[in-house]
Amino acid sequence: MCVWPSALNIARDRVFTAPVGQAREQGNKDKFSRLTRSTFYRVVTGHAFIGEYTRRFYPRHTREQIACPCGEPIETVEHVLLHCPRYTAESI
Ligand SMILES: [Zn+2]
Repeated sequence: MCVWPSALNIARDRVFTAPVGQAREQGNKDKFSRLTRSTFYRVVTGHAFIGEYTRRFYPRHTREQIACPCGEPIETVEHVLLHCPRYTAESI
């Protein structure tokens, strides 16, 4: 069973349903930087520059352009976040 979609939905709901006035009360100091939030939104919407995105929007891609450098044939968001050995705690 894959837990990816439900985990992603929970994370998305926490970001998108945060109280709007909370940022104002904190003096507009967001909990996360704009870069972090932008990256998160790209991941959630699938518009991150990874192999999966390249395969979807650039039909003339090569296998090397959509593969993960670790050897996975298609670099997906799920693969990068949950399975890729390049981003394990030991390798970072
Ligand atoms: Zn990988």
